[in-house]
Amino acid sequence: MTATQPPVALGGNFLVSPLDEATLFTRERFTDDHRDIEKMVRDFASERVRPNRDALESRNQELALTLLREMGELGLLGIDVPEAYGGMELDKITTAIVAESMGRSYSASFSVVYSVQTGIGMLPVLWFGTPAQKERYLPRLVTGEWIGAYALTEPSAGSDALSGKCGATLSEDGRYYLLNGEKQFITNAAWADLFTVFAQVNGSQFSAFLVERTTPGLTVGAEEKKMGVKGSSTCPVVLKEARVPVENLLYEVGKGATIAFNALNLGRFKLAASDLGGSKAVFEEAVRYAKGRRQFAQAIANFDVIKGKVADMAVRIFAADSMIYRTIGLIQQAVDRLDPAAADYYVQMGEATERYAMEASMAKVVGSETLGMVTDHGVQILGGYGFIEEFPMAGPYRDTRIDRIWEGTNEINRQIVAGTVMKRAILEELPIRTQIRAIDAFLDDEPEAAGGALVAERAALEAGKRLALSLLHEALNEFGQDLKHEQQLMELLANMFIEIYTAESTLGRTALFDPRAAAQPTAMKVAQVQAAEASIRLLNLALTGLNGIFRGALPMAMIERLRRFQARMIPRTDILRLKRAIAEYAYAKESYPF
Ligand SMILES: Cc1cc2nc3c(=O)[nH]c(=O)nc-3n(C[C@H](O)[C@H](O)[C@H](O)COP(=O)(O)OP(=O)(O)OC[C@H]3O[C@@H](n4cnc5c(N)ncnc54)[C@H](O)[C@@H]3O)c2cc1C
Repeated sequence: MTATQPPVALGGNFLVSPLDEATLFTRERFTDDHRDIEKMVRDFASERVRPNRDALESRNQELALTLLREMGELGLLGIDVPEAYGGMELDKITTAIVAESMGRSYSASFSVVYSVQTGIGMLPVLWFGTPAQKERYLPRLVTGEWIGAYALTEPSAGSDALSGKCGATLSEDGRYYLLNGEKQFITNAAWADLFTVFAQVNGSQFSAFLVERTTPGLTVGAEEKKMGVKGSSTCPVVLKEARVPVENLLYEVGKGATIAFNALNLGRFKLAASDLGGSKAVFEEAVRYAKGRRQFAQAIANFDVIKGKVADMAVRIFAADSMIYRTIGLIQQAVDRLDPAAADYYVQMGEATERYAMEASMAKVVGSETLGMVTDHGVQILGGYGFIEEFPMAGPYRDTRIDRIWEGTNEINRQIVAGTVMKRAILEELPIRTQIRAIDAFLDDEPEAAGGALVAERAALEAGKRLALSLLHEALNEFGQDLKHEQQLMELLANMFIEIYTAESTLGRTALFDPRAAAQPTAMKVAQVQAAEASIRLLNLALTGLNGIFRGALPMAMIERLRRFQARMIPRTDILRLKRAIAEYAYAKESYPF
């Protein structure tokens, strides 16, 4: 880090300071190299993967692995891997662009195979492996010659992953660890050559091991019959006195949690990016169908409620795009300050990513729920045909359901979001208490007279931040540290923080649009709708939360305070008219328009 660089802000900083647009990363700031890679991967997704969707969905191993190796030849399996091991080591933004572009492939199953290969199947070795481990495994993984898998979950240890019972004991001659236990729901398992397996050394030291498929004592169980992503392999892995050479311990005994959480942090933003790509692909199918399908002597696209749904999808996708790339930009800025020549470069990278673990959790929640909402609207727009397999909605609708469950369920991720803010407030890692003390003065100040583009929306958002912090303040007063056990309230706080981060990212991104760009006026409308609806949701969330804290007996002073927030936050926006205009713009473009 050079002396001139200001320190990297901690995750959650957005709650206590206004957005600095100079440092906001958005897709409009992609470099030419980013755009070239985006085009290459989108071409691969549309030319090689999408036409093969049906075959891939029938779990055609040969086809899936052939396509994976083609990606290897294009260098796409080694985006995060140094050249010394056959990779390209590009930035994290590129990692996200590739994930997003693969998300457009319309084969969630193949995206899953690819994601595990390049993510949790490979990164633990890259980050924590010894030079010998990296030399043995990375060149094989980046070509697709070997397939990687990640075995953390157990039948009795899902969300509580660190409680796994799988054990590892050193053999008497000290040459092997003997692994015993069962892993559950392991993606790529039937095809994998290398498993990163987590196990407790001596019953309590959670650790990770690189376990080759040919290891005596390792067996892969039967394929699960799944609701979606049916073309990917998901099996249990059984370890019975599996003899793993001591050289295959990954990192250090007892460091399994560090490895697991680092993989999850990166996995979360990649999943978010992939869901973003999926959302855009599904949006385009829905719009195409709505324009072609006629009922009551006109295209269903003309019906006002269909316009409303199309606009809802566009707004959600634009907002998700804004907050996901903002998050990746934050991580990239932190990584850029590291010295790649440092011996512990990847450990530092993990720590840098960890600073934004809360934002990565928010991105995972928003990405997965955006695709969930978009596929649901997509099915509805297709009507009965949305329910029929040969039309392009039933598959994505089923496939995306898992996204709210893996990489940490969305419940767990929301607890992480609220828990992080709570911790940073209590430990004063962020000036949250100072900000809370200044709320009365903020409310006493005359609100800025609205005028100018998105000025009212920004003012409402600043009030929304104070409203969320007010709720946090009341919750901490009532429950102290036990707030973490009030999970519904924590979830509600997380929802407020997510609303704020997303709305701010959307407003900030829109401000960066070139005023001459054709999409700019519609982007402004999207930002207006997003901000107005976020304001309404924030007010509702605060009302529910305060009633919970005061057990339904809201003091008059609190009601009065809420009114003062309302005065600043109630939107004066014709949301319905704006939505019509947004949908009509999307119809004219025939594609996702931003
Ligand atoms: C198709 C598929 C592929 C997978 N691939 C892999 C893989 O490659 N490697 C791997 O290791 N794992 C994998 N998993 C496992 C996946 O990550 C877990 O299913 C997930 O972490 C949830 O664990 P669980 O299923 O045991 O649910 P549980 O943890 O039992 O959760 C059940 C419900 O309880 C809620 N809950 C749990 N704990 C809390 C809490 N503290 N507070 C509030 N709510 C809570 C959850 O949010 C959820 O709603 C895969 C799963 C599937 C289905």
